[in-house]
Amino acid sequence: MSRKQETIAIIKQPETKPVVPGFHEWPVHTDCPHCDSSILTTLEYRPGTLTWIMCFFLMFIGLFLGCCFIPFCLDGCKDIAHMCPNCKNEIGRYYRI
Ligand SMILES: [Zn+2]
Repeated sequence: MSRKQETIAIIKQPETKPVVPGFHEWPVHTDCPHCDSSILTTLEYRPGTLTWIMCFFLMFIGLFLGCCFIPFCLDGCKDIAHMCPNCKNEIGRYYRI
């Protein structure tokens, strides 16, 4: 009894890791991992952890009746999503917390 051995060649393709620089509060030059073009990111403000913490803090000190939602109107309290202007995909995000 001889076992037939099969050799399977596994060809590993080098993973193309996106060039992800440190994202900050300003647009960055980078290569988009989605459309492979060199772009300057556009910024979109999204509610994040800090937004909710500020919301609960304002609620805690007694600002009810919608005032606790003020952080959702302030860009300074939101996370910043870096978007590709070509394909509109999100490339990275700057978290305030
Ligand atoms: Zn893109």
